[in-house]
Parts: sequence; structure tokens; C-alpha cells
Amino acid sequence: MAEEKEAVVLRVQPGAWAAVEGHEKTRARLSRLLSEKRVPHALLFSGPQGVGKKQVALAVAAAFLCLDPKEGLACGVCDSCRALAAGTHPDFFAVLPETSGKTARSVKIEQIREMRGAVARAPKFSTRRAVLLNDAETMNDAAANALLKTLEEPPGDTLFLLVTGARQALLPTIVSRCTIIPFAPLDDAAMARVLAAHDVPEDLRRSLIALSDGSAGRALRLFAEDALSLREDAMATLEKLPQMTPETIFSVGARLGALERERLLEWFRYLRMLLRDVLAIMEGSAALMNGDFSERLFAFAGTLTADRAFATEREAAEAARRLATSNASLRLVVEGFLLRAGK
Ligand SMILES: [Zn+2]
Repeated sequence: MAEEKEAVVLRVQPGAWAAVEGHEKTRARLSRLLSEKRVPHALLFSGPQGVGKKQVALAVAAAFLCLDPKEGLACGVCDSCRALAAGTHPDFFAVLPETSGKTARSVKIEQIREMRGAVARAPKFSTRRAVLLNDAETMNDAAANALLKTLEEPPGDTLFLLVTGARQALLPTIVSRCTIIPFAPLDDAAMARVLAAHDVPEDLRRSLIALSDGSAGRALRLFAEDALSLREDAMATLEKLPQMTPETIFSVGARLGALERERLLEWFRYLRMLLRDVLAIMEGSAALMNGDFSERLFAFAGTLTADRAFATEREAAEAARRLATSNASLRLVVEGFLLRAGK
């Protein structure tokens, strides 16, 4: 027998609906559709990455499949709810992008065909089935056209939940077959609750929120990558720039030169973000990307001219370009940058 590839199992825990943060209006609209049993057969969850679209889509699937829904929401205890929590629901299908060989992560036509075969069979628990298609924009054209056929002739009582962070990359014919459920970035309070729920220390939350444009997914990734300490390092280096001696250039070069290339590139990304904030301050703008650093940024902005700040940002861009496109020594790139920027 052929070895089966390991499937990604999506589980929907009881209480998934209540665990969603933010999107109050969207959730109210969905729960109204669910309780009135008027859910359109294809929903397109569209909005920025990392705001909870898939989480809401899964909770909708649970409510739709539940054998004993309470006011339109999943009961959490019936056979359907228990099977979803165990990741073994026979009438729930998840289509997720796959990576194969060197091709980019995408949803392939074989996956759509497999899903179509599955929804053509009679459901086991009730008359209903649900299909989740995550990162729908990664479908290639063949997959998208196969899905389109299914959406045009939907198998009875099947709910399609498409999730995308890039709606403009989807075939317009697919978008037009779906009811769009728009998602906005999370507000700061909702972001703070998500970070708290993931045990992010309180003193880091404000900075992570400032850097994440309302995407809890991004904030959690930055936390996992220890991005704040890189940004702190970039800020501290900027602050020392006017007084750099050859010795400090040498020691900073040694320290940053020991990082992984990718991480050093990230460091330069933060440095450039900080410098763009400095330029914004000089132009009288109050909207800073690193709002949590505003005091330090204002103080630093008072120590140099706009021309100098602009030139430093250009030098940082050039250093990053060299790092990304050549095998230049990390240490030499850093030292070269500091020498030119500190002039
Ligand atoms: Zn249930």
C-alpha cells in the first residue's frame, strides 16, 4: 500500500466562537445568518493576514455542522462537535496549500478533485457538509477553474468557506460566486487580549502591537522571533551613531557580524523603519511606525539634520541590498555602514 502523506488535521474546539477576539459586527452578522439558517452556500473570508479569519471560518463550520445548535452556535457536545474537536469529522474537509519540490506553496487541482469526490458522497452525520479552503489565493488556475465548477453547481447542503489575505489574486468569477465576509485589522484592545491569551509578557505587548498593524498573527510571529530585541539593538545603535569611535565601530561590527545573514537583514529593516520615523518627525508627522519609541525618536531627531537622517537611511538601504544580493562579509558591511553613517 502506498504510504499516505501526513495530513494536517484542523481541530475546532468547543468554544471556538467565543474565543475569537474583535470583529464584533462580522460575528453578529454571521451568527444571525446561522441562527436563521440563511447561510449562503459560499462565503469568502477576506482581510489582512493574522486577524482571525480562519478561526471564525472554522467556528462557522462547527455551527453549521452541529446537530443541536444553540441560537445558531455549535453546542460543543454533540457527535459532530466532538468529531470536529478530535479532527475526525467525516463531513468536514479542509483544503490547505501544499508545498511540493521547488514549487511555491499552492492549492493544486488534485486537491480540489479530491475534495469534489469527497463532497459527492453522502454525508455521514446529517445532510450537511462543510469545506474550508485556506489561503484560497494560492490556487493555481487549473485548481481555481475546478473549484469554480463546484461553486456553480454546488452539491446540496454544502457550505464552502474560502479564506484569503489577497482577494485581488483570486479569479473574479470565484469572488462573484461568494458572499464576501470582510475582516478589518484588530484594534489595540483586541490585540492585547490575543497576546495575553498567548502568554506574551505584559511589558512587551505595547511594542508588539505598535509593530503589527492590527495583525495578531504578525505580533505573535515577531514575539517568537524575538524581533523586539533586534529593534532595540537597532535603536541603541542609532543613538550611539554620532559618537562612534573606531573602537566602537569595530566592536559593533563584530557583534552584528556574528548574526545570521537573515537576522542582520531584519536588523537593517528595523533600522530603516526607525530612520523613516525620524524623517516623519522632522516633517511634523505624528504617525510613527514605532510609536512606543516616540520619546527616544524625538530626542534622536534633535541631534541630526534631515539631510543626515536621509543619507543614513540611504546607506542602510544600500547595506541591506549588499547583504541580500552578494556574499559580502557581514562584518564588513556593518562596519562600512557605520563608518559612512557616522560621518
Ligand atoms: Zn454540536
